[in-house]
This record gives sequence, structure tokens and C-alpha cells, in this order.
Amino acid sequence: MATHREREVQREIPFFDYSALFTCREDAFLETIQQVLAGGRFILQEELERFESHLADYLAVRYVFGVGNGTDALTIALRACGVGDADEVILPAHTFVATAAAVHHAGARPVLVDVGEDHLIDPARVEAAITADTRAIVPVQLNGRTCDMKALQRLADAHGLLIIEDAAQALGSEYGGRKAGTFGRAAGFSFYPAKLLGCFGDGGAVATDHDDVAERVRLLRDHGRTGNGDVLAWSYNSRLDNVQAALLDMKLESFEWDVERRREIAAMYDRRLSRYPELRLPLGPSDDTVRRDVYQNYELECKRRDELRQHLGDHGVGTIIQWGGRAVHQFSGLGLGDVSLPVTERIMDTSFLLPIHPYLSDEDVAHVCDMIDDFFAS
Ligand SMILES: *Cc1c(COP(=O)(O)O)cnc(C)c1O
Repeated sequence: MATHREREVQREIPFFDYSALFTCREDAFLETIQQVLAGGRFILQEELERFESHLADYLAVRYVFGVGNGTDALTIALRACGVGDADEVILPAHTFVATAAAVHHAGARPVLVDVGEDHLIDPARVEAAITADTRAIVPVQLNGRTCDMKALQRLADAHGLLIIEDAAQALGSEYGGRKAGTFGRAAGFSFYPAKLLGCFGDGGAVATDHDDVAERVRLLRDHGRTGNGDVLAWSYNSRLDNVQAALLDMKLESFEWDVERRREIAAMYDRRLSRYPELRLPLGPSDDTVRRDVYQNYELECKRRDELRQHLGDHGVGTIIQWGGRAVHQFSGLGLGDVSLPVTERIMDTSFLLPIHPYLSDEDVAHVCDMIDDFFAS
């Protein structure tokens, strides 16, 4: 029988398979592209409206607007909700810089707080950070898992704060039977290729249930223009390309299959890796009765992280560390460094991501686990 060491020679498992995003349904994608391009429908056309309406149905919200990317989605969502003007906005430090940048570009001040043991914003830390200037909370539905929305909603109600969700990593994730991106006044989603629902370039969307917010989002993504050409505010050009929308609409039809495959892979990792006390794993897909986690990422912690990653890399397994290993307060150029956030800092020192995406085979997952077995056996 071949040993692990002999088998790894033929197996390369990149962290994410960008080509498979296209080759998995190449002919169907090309046909769609051909149709849209030949019809000359490039910007704000029927394919975009169709996708927006299908995504709104999927989320069970009234409005979805396609925008240029997930960062714009958050900036526009914040502005559409009236956040700006030196308001304070509370968000977790364990997030992509984009979350804080959106707050900054909306004209507000990012206030970073620590996360809990599940890597999501800690409601107790949020409560401690509320001041008279606090206007909103931006929970980040990180790694495909939804924050404790009940606790956050209670705080928001008690202090008169808005909730605007960063759901860039959480399409399809649920809390109490409700989907991420439907709890607050508005939410931002990303369709960056490696996200749960990825397009072939940049893309994003804002979701909201509120008429007035929807009206503002519609203006803000299109130069602040109304339907009759009046301009009501300074704004941006940030519209989801029609051809990307058509492709996303196709992919949305089979999206639940992708989610189930991610949950299957997470269950396999959980089964194989929970025997190692040195690893701190995310919860398995059946461990939480309130939530449905969709595993945008499989983020685990290990004190000997760098050695383990080196070992996996040497055996063909690609892994990454979120944000390159630095939380938002750890980028000195942003001027948000005057806080100490022990859980976030521990996570930055010990966490990394294993490959998890719908194009991984069971054999790929087994190989990753074999290589981890190898590491702990030596
Ligand atoms: C990807 C991501 C964003 C930004 O999305 P883009 O489409 O890349 O602009 C924002 N927040 C989080 C948590 C993300 O992972």
C-alpha cells in the first residue's frame, strides 16, 4: 500500500480552484455570455433585474440591488441608512479591512471591538463600546456563520442603534431560521470569485426590506441620479455588470447544492480532525441547533500553526491566513491601533484556513486530513 508520502507526489490541492469556477459549467456559462453580449445588454438591463429579484426571493427580503463589489455594497448600505457625519460605528477587528473602509468612506468612525471564541463579534464587547456618538453596529457574518443576532438586536433596540450586516461571507447562512443579511436595516454581500456565490470578477449587492433605504441605494449606486435624471446627492458609479448578473443568476439556481457540499466537507474535517486536542476547530454543521453555518471558510486554530502550514504546503496542500495574519487594528497605516483585543490577536497568531469549496473531492479532503495525521504522528 502506498504511504501518504508516496501518494502526495501526484496530489496538489490549491487553497481555492479559480479555474474550476469556470470549467465546472464552461459550456453553459459561454452560452449565457454569448446571449447577453449579442443582445447588447451591458448595464442595468433585464438580466440584472432578474438576478436581483431571484436573490431577494432566496433571502426573503423585498429589495436587492447589484453593485460593483462587496465594499461598495457596505459603503452604500451605510450611507443609505443615514450613517455618516462622524458617527461611531462598532465592528469586529477580525474582519477584512473593507468593512472598516466602508465605514470610513461613509464618513463615519470605525470603532473596533474583540470577537468571541467562535471568531464572531462579541455582544458584550459591543455593549462596552457604546457611547453617545454610536450610531450603528456592523456585525460581520464571518466564515459563513451568523453572529448572535438576538443579543445584538437587543443592544440595538436598547440604545437606538442601527444594524447593518456585513454578509460578504455568509450568503445562505441562517440564524433562527432567518438568513444572514436580513436582520439589520440593510446588508452588503460580495460576489468576489472565491466567495460562496462567486462571479468572474468583482460584484456585490445590497439587501434591504425598507422602502426608504431601497430608494437611496438605487440612487447611490448610480451617481445619485433619480429615474428622471435629477441628481440628489454626490455619489458613485457602482453597478453590477449585466453579464455578471446573468451568470450569477444561473449559479444561484444550484447554489444550495454548493452550500450542502461545503457543509459535507466541514463534517468530514470535523470527523477526522476532532481527535487532535492541539487543534481548535470551528463547530461542525450539526453542532448548532440555532444556526446553519455555510462554511465560506474552515478557520481553525493551532499553536504550532506555522509549522503545520509548512508541512501541508510541502505536501501540496494550500492554506491561507485571513487578512494576511493581521486584524484591522494591526495595520498601522489606518490609525486604529490604540486598542488591545486579546482574542482577535490570539486568532491572528494561531488561525488559518483549510481548503473548502464545492470543487474539492472526497479524496482531496481525505488527503488534507492524511497530511494533518502525518504532522501529528511525527
Ligand atoms: C470579501 C469581503 C468584503 C468585501 O468584498 P469585495 O467584493 O471584495 O469588495 C467585505 N467584508 C468581508 C468580511 C469580506 O470577506
